Amino acid sequence: MIPTEALTGSSIVFDEVLPAKQGTAFEMAAGQVLRIVDIEGQQVPDLLCLNSADYTDKFSPPNTQLLNQTIFLKTGHHLYSTRAEKMMTIIEDTVGVHDVISGGCSAATNEFRYGVRGTASCRGNFEKALAPYGVPEAEIPYNFNIFMNVTVSPEGATAIEECPSKPGDYIDLLADMDVLVAISNCPQSRNPCNGWNPTALRLILHEPGARVGA
Ligand SMILES: [Zn+2]
Repeated sequence: MIPTEALTGSSIVFDEVLPAKQGTAFEMAAGQVLRIVDIEGQQVPDLLCLNSADYTDKFSPPNTQLLNQTIFLKTGHHLYSTRAEKMMTIIEDTVGVHDVISGGCSAATNEFRYGVRGTASCRGNFEKALAPYGVPEAEIPYNFNIFMNVTVSPEGATAIEECPSKPGDYIDLLADMDVLVAISNCPQSRNPCNGWNPTALRLILHEPGARVGA
């Protein structure tokens, strides 16, 4: 395991903090690795990606479930696209709890579930972050919920439980192709998914070749 502190020097493409409730998008080249660090713990990053060569080929939660043959993604599993292309791989993960079936929070689902209108949401964050890339809301896929704890009973009942990540926990995602990545630092405060208190994330994009001996 490479500690976050060891990711230094020329290997780092960027190392920045994504404030609570905010979103971002950036290009990632094949072979680069994105580390997402939960700084304070109990914070869910919603992540999606699109094929940089063709934005109509994009992350597919159903294909990811189908081709990994599980809804509980772990180290070694892949994020697949609508055309069944391998987009990203989980290569390291200190939490081991993620969700791929619940999508992202939206103003509409918040109104439905909590009777509040016009709330900040992951769908809203994605729309804002991807607008500069010419990806309209209708073309934005649903996402992968990192560290999100959605339990499924044997009968199929689902429930959002508290996020199990601790301060400093992280996930490393390797880009298997050139991808446009979007991340929403989930602003949800009306259910336990972020421990009722959205907090900042740290994003480190780096070149893995330079990790050896770092
Ligand atoms: Zn959210």
